[in-house]
Parts: sequence; C-alpha cells; structure tokens
Amino acid sequence: MGECRSKEASVTCNRRKKRCSDGLPCEYCTRIGKLLDCEYRTKVPSKTVRVTERYFINLKR
Ligand SMILES: [Zn+2]
Repeated sequence: MGECRSKEASVTCNRRKKRCSDGLPCEYCTRIGKLLDCEYRTKVPSKTVRVTERYFINLKR
C-alpha cells in the first residue's frame, strides 16, 4: 500500500493539462505560485488534500 500511487495530477495541473510531479504542492503549482491551490481529488469526496497556510509558513522558515 502506498507504493503504487495513482498518477493523478493535481486539480490545477489537470485543468491546465500539465504533467504533475506528484507532490504537495507539486512542481508546477510551485512554479506558478499556486502553492496554496495545489490539491488533489481523492476518491473520498470529503477528504480533499490541501496545503494549509500553516504548512506554507513552516516551509518559509
Ligand atoms: Zn499541481
């Protein structure tokens, strides 16, 4: 479990038809400054993976 991850692109990459590097935030979203908007659609509708503001702040330290 976890090794064969679905190669799903983040919502932004998917919308722009970009190849997603699979990260949170992914490379493309980082490049275009959409770090906080990078999210993935999971099979569970109520559980959307999202970068929280706190996580972003921690990254900047
Ligand atoms: Zn992305």
